[in-house]
Amino acid sequence: MIVVLMGIQGCGKGTQAKLLAKHYSWQHINLGGLFRKEIAKNTKKGNEIKHYIDNGNLVPDEIVYHTIEKVLGGKKRGFIFDGFPRTLAQAHYLVENHNINKVIFFDLEDDIARARMDARRVCSNCNRDYNILSKPPKKEGICDDCGHELIRRTDDSLEGINQRINLFHEQTKPLCDFFKERGLLFVVNANQGIQEINDQVRGVLDLIKE
Ligand SMILES: [Zn+2]
Repeated sequence: MIVVLMGIQGCGKGTQAKLLAKHYSWQHINLGGLFRKEIAKNTKKGNEIKHYIDNGNLVPDEIVYHTIEKVLGGKKRGFIFDGFPRTLAQAHYLVENHNINKVIFFDLEDDIARARMDARRVCSNCNRDYNILSKPPKKEGICDDCGHELIRRTDDSLEGINQRINLFHEQTKPLCDFFKERGLLFVVNANQGIQEINDQVRGVLDLIKE
């Protein structure tokens, strides 16, 4: 089984990916996480990846594909992609080389996505993430772990957030069409509780698993 999760930042797909991976004993594939792991190992490939990311560039597709093939070649019988594919070229690669069972799109209105991103904070000292709506600190504006001040990330300015939302639509619309044409797309309303969303997604996945 290979399932792809798509949705804007703040839509909750990372949380759902973890829940689904646990429920079905599938592997959760978060490309950013895999890259960070490789970088931490300080390998030649890791340093190459770091170089691209540090310079604000996208990691080239050949490295992306090599990274995911290594994971797909592992022992697990099911995989959940979270944050891949991002481009039509990557989507083509995926369906041409693997049997994709379902693509779940977590649909969230722009205003709600904007409000969730607008609520993000980070500790100015230890970098721990907070969200004043969904994951607030115990004491307003102060890090639970180290007591330092919480701040906005520089790319979380209103302009930065709007830019991210526009970019998301530009990138995602063709991907949704691509998967829809192949009968793979399922759209779930992401403005619901974690459990409700999980129930609906599992309902769909249980049907294909039979
Ligand atoms: Zn802190």
